[in-house]
Amino acid sequence: MNFLIQPKKYKSLMADKGSRTIMDKTIAFFEKMGKERLSEDYNEKVWYKEFIDFIGKEQIFAKLLTPREYAGGDPDCRWDTARNSEYSELVAFYGLGYWYCFQVTILGLGPIWMSPNEKAKQKAAKLLKEGAIFAFGLSERDHGADIYSTETSLTPKGDGNWLANGEKYYIGNGNEAEMVSTLGKVKDGTDDYTYFVTNYRHKAYELKKNVISHQEYVSNFALHDYPITEDDILSRGELAWDSSLNTVNIGKFNIGPASIGVTEHCFYEAITHASNRILYGMCVTDMPHVKKNFMDAWLRLVAMKMYQRRSTDYFRCANKNDRRYLLYSPTSKMKVTLQSEDIINLLWEVIAAKGFEKDTFFHMAATDVRGPSKLEGTVHVNVQLIRKFMKNYFFNPGEYPPVKPDFSLNDDVFLFNQGPTKGLSKVQFHDYRPVFESFKDLPNVATFIEQINIFKELLEKAGPDKMQDMDPSWSLPLGEMFSIVVYGQLILEQAKFDNMDKDIINQIFDFMVRDFAGFALQIYGNHSTRDKQREHCTDILLIKAVANPDQYNKIWEKYVSTLNGEYEMND
Ligand SMILES: Cc1cc2nc3c(=O)[nH]c(=O)nc-3n(C[C@H](O)[C@H](O)[C@H](O)COP(=O)(O)OP(=O)(O)OC[C@H]3O[C@@H](n4cnc5c(N)ncnc54)[C@H](O)[C@@H]3O)c2cc1C
Repeated sequence: MNFLIQPKKYKSLMADKGSRTIMDKTIAFFEKMGKERLSEDYNEKVWYKEFIDFIGKEQIFAKLLTPREYAGGDPDCRWDTARNSEYSELVAFYGLGYWYCFQVTILGLGPIWMSPNEKAKQKAAKLLKEGAIFAFGLSERDHGADIYSTETSLTPKGDGNWLANGEKYYIGNGNEAEMVSTLGKVKDGTDDYTYFVTNYRHKAYELKKNVISHQEYVSNFALHDYPITEDDILSRGELAWDSSLNTVNIGKFNIGPASIGVTEHCFYEAITHASNRILYGMCVTDMPHVKKNFMDAWLRLVAMKMYQRRSTDYFRCANKNDRRYLLYSPTSKMKVTLQSEDIINLLWEVIAAKGFEKDTFFHMAATDVRGPSKLEGTVHVNVQLIRKFMKNYFFNPGEYPPVKPDFSLNDDVFLFNQGPTKGLSKVQFHDYRPVFESFKDLPNVATFIEQINIFKELLEKAGPDKMQDMDPSWSLPLGEMFSIVVYGQLILEQAKFDNMDKDIINQIFDFMVRDFAGFALQIYGNHSTRDKQREHCTDILLIKAVANPDQYNKIWEKYVSTLNGEYEMND
């Protein structure tokens, strides 16, 4: 059984023919292009016009990103988080650059679908049908995560229209986006935030350069007295501010699947290379440390997929009274993306020189895979965000009806109506304990439960003081530990639905126990940690995962070594 996607034996999660066709056509597009061309275009930084033409011809973004209400009757159109995640994973399997074009189109459409401006929405739907791509113009060169300092301005002309001025930096697709959702402030004495639409073809839109050296286009553009009418205004005031954060909520959830896709392709290349390489008369994969790297990488990859899959259900069932997705999305963002970096490191240690070769997928991925953890909020920003949920998660659980796996054809329109972004610390979560308890017959889950209990005790009896709380070098490892609990909970929930082989689950929790201890060590070593806190950290550190060599070897034989030669992209 193969848990990784295998394009040549592709099994879509979607039941409807329209969605399956989208996946199949995308695979056919890339396999026809072949690995040689894919690498050449990457290395020569060729803008992927052919891909955009293909997307337009097949109406792929139109189908994936138009809510049904604006679809003009096309039955394949809906905004379906499960489907978009699947598509992201698949496209990133062939290259993060291609995925990025999809990603920033999603972001660009966020403030549009969230807007009360019907004309702009109809225009976006029409442009999607015509094959357009979109962009999200939020970042400015000097301000990074600090969007309060946005300088782009909208000045009233006195006749009901405005002039936009300012400069945006790091804006994907800014070279060809038909609608750039641009964030600015209204200079009419209010300094209200506003989203308005600009277009790269306008003469007042100066496309300055591609900021990065890549086939994807991450633009720096400037607006010089760009004329804006009422029809171009998407939102103003609180709605505009919320549109930024709510769009990023949607976008950042789409990053995890990309990290998964890119890692899966690398895994195939790495295991096939190592399994067929003979050194000193022995196969490289017979060396215990090499085998361990592959095992660790594969288990982490399977865990990433399980977490991402389960959290998608919570995204789809979200509503005003169930905002649990606000924790699961940044957890995906910081955890899944960092795990993919760890996996690439593990694989690269094995395939060494091969990972540099220009005709591998790996050499592209090894560079690009560092990106996802840093975009749409760095790991720091996301860990700080999830810490807001920690108290209620551990100490004040809420009641919710059970959430089943959701592959319905529903439109996830709540995402465009998320409402105010405040009140995060009030969000409640279902009790994490029952699902852990139901797996406690597995020694490493039982060990992990012990660790969680000590961690909870640390929070209750020796929690961070004000200074430690305000110092990210102290609070970040604490947040990382919290994130592993959330991660583990959703993995176990998914394991139930998948009826997952318990050997795999037990081995997944082997690395979870090690990771948890690793962050406890960071807190232990911090100079401002108090003795009482160190005692709890020591208790966590001294618990070790339970070895089971037979189980380990069984997984290697049954699931991991069998991936040798399983997939090779067409030349
Ligand atoms: C390839 C690429 C594509 C991009 N695409 C787009 C796009 O399409 N549209 C768009 O608008 N932007 C885009 N961006 C911008 C991107 O989202 C930002 O770069 C990113 O959010 C981080 O900002 P920064 O790199 O400027 O870091 P800074 O904000 O300068 O952060 C500096 C340091 O401070 C830390 N930090 C900042 N705030 C906090 C906090 N609150 N708590 C704890 N630590 C904090 C950070 O973790 C980091 O270590 C893109 C960037 C790149 C490189």
